Amino acid sequence: MDPAVIQKCIHCGMCLPSCPTYQETKIERNSPRGRISLMRAIAEKRMDLTASFAHELYFCLGCLACQTACPVGVDYKTLFEASRQDIEKSKILNNPLRLLARTFLIKYLFLSSWRLRTFGRLLRIYQRMGLDRFFKSLPFLPAKLKDMLGQLPSIAPHFSYEIISTREIPINTPARWKVGLLTGCVQDLVFSKINRDTADVLLYNGCEVICPPEQGCCGSLHAHNGELETAERLAKKLLAAFPIEELDAIITNSAGCGSHLKHFSDLFPPGTFWRQKAEVWDKKVYDIHEWLIKIGFSPPQAFPCTSQSHTVITYHDACHLCHGQKIKNEPRAILRSLPCIQFIELEEADHCCGSAGIYNILQPEMAHKLLNKKVEKIKKTNASVVCTANPGCLLFIEKGLKKHHLNIQTIHPISLLAQYYRMKERDGGSIEKKEANLAGLIH
Ligand code: SF4
Ligand code: SF4
Repeated sequence: MDPAVIQKCIHCGMCLPSCPTYQETKIERNSPRGRISLMRAIAEKRMDLTASFAHELYFCLGCLACQTACPVGVDYKTLFEASRQDIEKSKILNNPLRLLARTFLIKYLFLSSWRLRTFGRLLRIYQRMGLDRFFKSLPFLPAKLKDMLGQLPSIAPHFSYEIISTREIPINTPARWKVGLLTGCVQDLVFSKINRDTADVLLYNGCEVICPPEQGCCGSLHAHNGELETAERLAKKLLAAFPIEELDAIITNSAGCGSHLKHFSDLFPPGTFWRQKAEVWDKKVYDIHEWLIKIGFSPPQAFPCTSQSHTVITYHDACHLCHGQKIKNEPRAILRSLPCIQFIELEEADHCCGSAGIYNILQPEMAHKLLNKKVEKIKKTNASVVCTANPGCLLFIEKGLKKHHLNIQTIHPISLLAQYYRMKERDGGSIEKKEANLAGLIH
């Protein structure tokens, strides 16, 4: 770990109020300042890397709210990822079950798009046959296992490569840009429709879309969980899959991936072939909202609304979009451009919902505390739709809303925009039809 990064922290404590774990426990070691002090003590050999330090680093959400709050620009993401890598190398947390789960998930399943899709196909069959409901109903299954089964997301009917061609060109408008589209791993398995929507929105806005079918995971899951070497392997795969030099931009619609994808060059030593390639890549990666605002996207055609047709929507900032990439205004600008919508700001919209990658599985107690808070805030807005731009947040918030029996829909902002564009094409000038379609989408 680079000591200069740790030494940048002046221990001012400005980050403490923004840290979700510190807010909940009020314990110094659960705060960014406390964690950085521990890292410093280990780096300066005043303390050994202990299991208690390792647990502390896995109690951290990696939400990066501290990075936004820090007045001197401490790069907490680098410290967090390097510390988790040291923890994994020390093997201090290893036990047979943890080792098996990590080896299967991180080093086997997420390493190949073929394996991941095969797993997705099997899971889809299991879900369609209703076996998930059957297992959950078995009285002798431990509650923890039932809860884990309940957390498995529904696999989409099609994967991204089945509904997006390798190359697509705009039909009604000349292509002004050529962009690559990243389809992700969880996004590909569960939310391939969001990928299709993203491709449609890009086409509508004059972008030729290049979408290589064999892309796979970007490695953000690996980097956040101490497997930087595996993250490097996956980055190389993506760098080789796209014709980077030909593209104006490489687009992601997943906040957690975007925050990692924009820093591929950090994975490679200076002066190497892959570092040079990654430096070009890093400059071209855009979050979809960021790209649409940059190119001056076409807002959907306005149509008059009756008071009943105004749908109240709100927006949750995914941590790795607002803190990791500093993108807050762009999704709001897109949502505010939609006709017949009343946009209500969510209180503490940029506070973590508790999903945080696999944190909600590893630390369910803290994750659910944060989720319950988020649901309470959503309830206060009276919104019937909550938008957010990360697959983990979409799934976890949906789970929280269901648990509280709230009839509130979750949707990615780009899916909503795509729906508006499609309404224009399908329904021409009929306001009644548009209103009916909007109601059908949102309720
Ligand atoms: S990443 Fe989030 S949980 Fe971790 S120290 Fe920073 S603010 Fe706290
Ligand atoms: S991380 Fe930044 S805000 Fe937090 S204590 Fe250190 S210098 Fe202050």
